Amino acid sequence: MRYIGATGAIFHAEPTTERAATMGAKSAIEWTDATWNPVTGCTKVSPGCKHCYAERLAMHLQAMGNPRYRRGFAVTLHPDQVTLPLRWRQPRRIFVNSMSDLFHEAIPDEFIMGVGHP
Ligand code: SF4
Repeated sequence: MRYIGATGAIFHAEPTTERAATMGAKSAIEWTDATWNPVTGCTKVSPGCKHCYAERLAMHLQAMGNPRYRRGFAVTLHPDQVTLPLRWRQPRRIFVNSMSDLFHEAIPDEFIMGVGHP
């Protein structure tokens, strides 16, 4: 699925599936209860990105056939995920965009504005 931003730029978005919609709801990271990734992927911008764990994990998930990572670490929007926490019944600490940068320059402002809003 493709998503066209206000500037006319075309972004890729992954289709919704029930299995994919629930992925990432729980986390093994000790300081958070859940991860929430309405966007996956990023772009290396500095030497500090050299050992980016998100890139490494994205490539692993792609190799494992995870539908969210068909495009590996390329910036990918997941429109079906923008309101995911609103469906969670129990409160939890959420690591937002553990696999990307929500404010990456390639992400349309209207998409960012919709994150967390029904
Ligand atoms: S997620 Fe962070 S460390 Fe990884 S490429 Fe993006 S900015 Fe760099």
